[in-house]
Amino acid sequence: MLYNDLTKQLILLDKAQYETPTDGMVKYLVEQWFMTPEYTDDYGIFYTVYQAYKTVNKRKTYGKINLCTIFPTTGCNAQCPYCYEKGMESKNMSEQVADDLVAWLKTRTASTLHVKWFGGEPLCNKPIIDRICQRLQVENIDFYSSITTNGLLFEEDEVDKYINQWHLRQAQVTIDGTHDVYIATKNFKSFTGDAYEKVLSNVEMLSKAGVRVNIRTHITGENKQDILALVDELTERYKNNSRVIVYTHPLYEGCGEIETFSDEERALVYRNYREVSAVINATGAGPRYSIERFRTTHCMADDGRSMCVNPDGGLSLCEHHPWDELYGNIYDDNYDKAILDSWLEPAIDSVECIKCCLRPSCLRLAKCPVDEICTAQTIEYKLNKTYLAMTNAYSRYKQNTEKIE
Ligand code: SF4
Ligand code: SF4
Repeated sequence: MLYNDLTKQLILLDKAQYETPTDGMVKYLVEQWFMTPEYTDDYGIFYTVYQAYKTVNKRKTYGKINLCTIFPTTGCNAQCPYCYEKGMESKNMSEQVADDLVAWLKTRTASTLHVKWFGGEPLCNKPIIDRICQRLQVENIDFYSSITTNGLLFEEDEVDKYINQWHLRQAQVTIDGTHDVYIATKNFKSFTGDAYEKVLSNVEMLSKAGVRVNIRTHITGENKQDILALVDELTERYKNNSRVIVYTHPLYEGCGEIETFSDEERALVYRNYREVSAVINATGAGPRYSIERFRTTHCMADDGRSMCVNPDGGLSLCEHHPWDELYGNIYDDNYDKAILDSWLEPAIDSVECIKCCLRPSCLRLAKCPVDEICTAQTIEYKLNKTYLAMTNAYSRYKQNTEKIE
């Protein structure tokens, strides 16, 4: 299977077609940009397409907000060692700021607004989530929401509210390991029950109510066996439940108490990642990676339609920066253009980027705190996701073809 990361085209050749293509096949591969003359400047072509697309796209989309990440609180009920917010100010949003925020959003949102609850642990300030949702409804702002949460504070008797008032569609819940590992890692403050069981039951409750739940696990150099045992448990517990997705991600280096890895440590983490993600993928419980459309933006920070609001009404572009990198606040229309512009700044391409087959979809920002290091292992991580996307696209094609036949 051949994939062109610039045109996003996939084609499947048999062995003979690949090894000794006929003239007709060569012509086709040339026309579809799978074969280019040796002297072709691939990077130059990519860059030209990228800049042209970016210019056209910007004109179309510039303006209204369609993603608002809200920090109802920057406080948290857990104490994960890898938390990148360690040492940040812990504060709840007040009712006044919540009301002012909705009034501010009223004239600035696109036809539908995606509200993302983030923190801290957003469920530590549920009354403010309730209030913002009620106000959004009163103001006739069409919205739906998602949440990044540890999931402990969801309650069975509130599930109707999550669906009908919060319009909750998706939750991301991190499970750090099997029962005892989870309890030790989360180290919840003032919770005496079985936090692990409560969170897993909450995942079930939400998914049954129609919320898609992405369970994130973190892979390190040491926890492969435990994560494999966890994956076993989760896939058994949520089998036949297509709303629960399990995935794994290497822990970000340099976050919280996690130091930057040595080359050997990083190699081990990514080897473990490959093994665990292959197991997850084989169970069918993993994410359905797909071939993305051609993108010109990296994330919410540079898409020109998203912003984050901290508990004081301060505005930033990156969810990892609730208290710094503020470009303004909801009480003042004067924004700091230098900060806004700095988040559009792409990372500088290395010599490797110029030759890298992933470059068309590898968009990086100079200021993104989680995408700083490119190593042989991170390239392999990105390639692995690309392979999964390719095979998924092929499976889908086969299913559709079979249906037609
Ligand atoms: S994967 Fe690494 S080398 Fe390749 S384009 Fe991205 S940053 Fe550059
Ligand atoms: S951490 Fe990186 S990917 Fe996430 S919002 Fe900030 S800039 Fe974007």
